[in-house]
Amino acid sequence: MKYDITYSCGHEGTVYICGKSDKRERKLKFFQEYGLCPKCYKKEKETEFLEKKSKYSALPELTGTPKQIAWAEKIRIKAIDRFKLDEFAQSSKKITALNEKIEKAKLSPNAETSYGKWWIKDNSQKLRILTDPSAKYFIEEWGDYL
Ligand SMILES: [Zn+2]
Repeated sequence: MKYDITYSCGHEGTVYICGKSDKRERKLKFFQEYGLCPKCYKKEKETEFLEKKSKYSALPELTGTPKQIAWAEKIRIKAIDRFKLDEFAQSSKKITALNEKIEKAKLSPNAETSYGKWWIKDNSQKLRILTDPSAKYFIEEWGDYL
């Protein structure tokens, strides 16, 4: 069903909602109370992105074409969210410590156990997300996945 509504941001728009009538009404109410119109939603996401980007000072500048970089920045921030690397992205000290922990783990007797192998692989991947400057890496490795 098609509804003309006023979003919580005050802008008007049309939404399509399907399902049973009580479910439709709940969704409609939700849009009106909390929903943002597509334009404001996009703006909010953009602001969120810029805020995060400015917080993540420990990350290297990406290299690539301007288009690749813009795309890869978004992927990198998603990857940081997804793997809960927020604290690392804000502190190069923490990144260095993670690197040292991985190097140490590689030399430990546990490195050959399946848990050890998994731990090293998992953390090396996280480290790479935090330190790889190549826009291409993010696009090729994570572009479809995130
Ligand atoms: Zn709006």
